[in-house]
Amino acid sequence: MKKHNFSAGPCILPSSVFKEASQAVLDFNNSGLSILEISHRSKDFVSVIEEARTLVLDLLGLQNKGYQALFLHGGASTQFLSVAYNLLEKKAAYLNTGTWSSKAIKEAKLFGEIIEVASSKDKQFNCIPKNYSVDQSFDYFHCTSNNTIYGTQIKEFPSVEIPMVCDMSSDIFSRELNFENFDLIYAGAQKNMGPAGTTLVVVKESILGKVSREIPSLFDYQIQIEKESMFNTPAVYAVYVSLLNLRWLQSLGGIKAIEKANHKKAQLLYSAIDNNSLFTGYAAKEDRSIMNATFNLKSKKLEPLFNDMCQEANINGINGHRSIGGYRASMYNALPISSVEILIEVMNQLERKA
Ligand SMILES: *Cc1c(COP(=O)(O)O)cnc(C)c1O
Repeated sequence: MKKHNFSAGPCILPSSVFKEASQAVLDFNNSGLSILEISHRSKDFVSVIEEARTLVLDLLGLQNKGYQALFLHGGASTQFLSVAYNLLEKKAAYLNTGTWSSKAIKEAKLFGEIIEVASSKDKQFNCIPKNYSVDQSFDYFHCTSNNTIYGTQIKEFPSVEIPMVCDMSSDIFSRELNFENFDLIYAGAQKNMGPAGTTLVVVKESILGKVSREIPSLFDYQIQIEKESMFNTPAVYAVYVSLLNLRWLQSLGGIKAIEKANHKKAQLLYSAIDNNSLFTGYAAKEDRSIMNATFNLKSKKLEPLFNDMCQEANINGINGHRSIGGYRASMYNALPISSVEILIEVMNQLERKA
């Protein structure tokens, strides 16, 4: 029995993607070889990674605009330091909206001065700070578009006159943004793009090459661009499955189409949370994420019953992050609306019972 998978990451992907991906393990492109045993320099795989890079730029509307798409190793967490390695000469501005931003700040501090231009830490990160300013004295501005753990999301990005860097790990390809406003976007694949194991970096080439330090090759974006993400062996299978998912997204009508579906799912769930007397939302309403909905039972005593009912209904992965507890329903692109409806039905059943 297939589960309703609300896992925050690694997360659900379309079943058609799982099917095609599993077929390629047995026989890739009728080659008589598994995708797991071919050279990353083979024609078949080079065309996979090239198509994936092209699709990324197409979907984001960044084709022929001076951007490069890279598939790197080490997760989004490695980008916390790579960003600073490549861009930080003296000081950088960071917006602190949660655990991941805080970790990005910590790593960047190894390379220079970091100023937190605003933080919602004193509000337990339940909202996005507004009305802060970022002047031109900084090398770049860094923010996290969607706070996977707290369930908040930046709806309006500041306009800054320095390079804007954004960790979009948990909402990339979920909503339309003017991606040209960003100079560097990165995302661990496993939240909304593919399986764990590869990390997407989309970078505007003109911002590179400006720091005076030496950068180790693996972390150097310019070298990775030159080597077309193949400085060393890329995560062949993770890139392939990401490509399948990007093709799926494109066939649906791209980001515009999926954004509509994502809004619908989020609206349904948030109104269920607001209308159910037993539950309360965690994030400030105006900052609610359309990807990760965080909520709590007002009475902790009901948690075991609710957990049992969820399990009974084949609902997986709605426990909140271990750092904040409560519940979190992640509604990434591939999650069908029917799964959201089932969760809501269980919440309503609980209300009738309690
Ligand atoms: C999960 C997550 C990360 C960490 O990703 P890894 O690929 O595990 O390093 C960073 N930022 C955000 C916003 C995340 O959701």
